Amino acid sequence: MSQGQLFVISAPSGAGKTSLIKALREQMPDLGLSISHTTRPMRPGEVDGQHYHFVSKPTFESMIAEGAFVEHALVFGNHYGTSKAAVSAVLDKGQDLILEIDWQGAEQVRPLFSGAQSIFILPPSREALRERLFGRGQDDADVIARRLAEAEREMQAYPNYDFLIINDDFSQALNQLRCLFESARLRTPRQAEKERVRLENLLNTPKKT
Ligand code: GDP
Ligand code: ADP
Ligand code: 5GP
Repeated sequence: MSQGQLFVISAPSGAGKTSLIKALREQMPDLGLSISHTTRPMRPGEVDGQHYHFVSKPTFESMIAEGAFVEHALVFGNHYGTSKAAVSAVLDKGQDLILEIDWQGAEQVRPLFSGAQSIFILPPSREALRERLFGRGQDDADVIARRLAEAEREMQAYPNYDFLIINDDFSQALNQLRCLFESARLRTPRQAEKERVRLENLLNTPKKT
């Protein structure tokens, strides 16, 4: 069985990547999502092991020392990392995998997975980003201020990504994202494996009796 395709998705906090990925996975349930480890405090409604693996700083540091991460980064003062286990659990099943990680993580992943496709999501404006972060109502004002201040740095990374989506109208952005995932599945090597029997039937000239 061939390995799945790896997709890296980044965006400034509040641009809508988590909402878009959730909606995409409702339409394409066989898409895997890597569950990161983080040292940030759990938000109301978040579930350990589902949204993140929430761990202490010493635990995170010992995982770094053990070489447990594919990539890790300090984002908004907290550690975030993608474990090797989270990646191989999905790719080895042949499923496509999404890494929802920041630009620093994307830079570490690109040289490791040469076939990875990367997607950057931008908000339509700075005002919209601010409104979404406040509207989400899950972070304190000082946390939001820090995220907005760091949004500019994150957004500067967009030229390094293969695809750029502006999340203005949600359903349009969702359709665009879905097109990227659907087209990856139509690449010839994947189609050749999936449609092997059909291709054999089409290409093998029937023998005359
Ligand atoms: P949200 O994106 O605003 O919902 O905030 P989060 O606290 O969920 O994520 C904070 C930042 O950490 C974002 O830039 C994420 O892309 C990034 N992040 C999340 N998980 C990982 C990870 O495993 N590795 C890296 N490098 N960054 C991550
Ligand atoms: P991120 O994961 O990038 O930090 P979220 O998915 O949590 O962002 O979205 C931030 C907030 O913006 C959420 O309250 C979400 O419902 C809202 N949101 C997402 N996309 C749109 C959109 N296209 N128009 C308006 N609000 C949106
Ligand atoms: P939040 O704290 O709002 O859930 O996430 C903040 C940022 O951390 C987001 O930009 C998110 O993409 C990033 N992030 C989440 N998990 C990881 C991870 O495993 N690695 C990296 N590098 N960034 C992550």
